[in-house]
Amino acid sequence: MGRDEDECADHRVDSAVIRPEHDTLLLDVMLGTLASYLRMCGYDTVYALDRGVEDDDALRGLAASDARRLITRDRALAASTPGAIRLDARDVVDQLGELRDAGVRLRLADRPSRCGSCNGLVERVDDDAPRPDYAPDEGAVWRCRECGQHFWRGSHWDDVADTLASLSRADR
Ligand SMILES: [Zn+2]
Repeated sequence: MGRDEDECADHRVDSAVIRPEHDTLLLDVMLGTLASYLRMCGYDTVYALDRGVEDDDALRGLAASDARRLITRDRALAASTPGAIRLDARDVVDQLGELRDAGVRLRLADRPSRCGSCNGLVERVDDDAPRPDYAPDEGAVWRCRECGQHFWRGSHWDDVADTLASLSRADR
């Protein structure tokens, strides 16, 4: 199931300085939708509200203690947090474009590594293991070790791949 657009996109974004292999992220409130995209791209991504963290000092503290790069729409918070990325857009696709422009590598991995819902690590389910009713009967399926949700490369996966490919084709 090779994705040709990955290769095309890669040449363009290979100058990306932020990559899932060595960067972890912290998303401010209101950016929960973005979290699932970033997790699907392999980033260890904490969403502030999932940790019950909301005020600026607590966010700065968590970014520092966890060595996570903060992503926020708050101008003052971004300015006062080392390495933070500030977003202007409200729409998630536009936000992804801003991240791409900020040097964040946005590419679907060959297989899921992070749960889009809870950020847990996912593992491949044995082909002969029982599957929940909502999962397909055949093909590769993964399960989140934390919340138990199952994942596969179905239409949602393709939609996200198309969205990311459209970013690479846009403007520059
Ligand atoms: Zn999960």
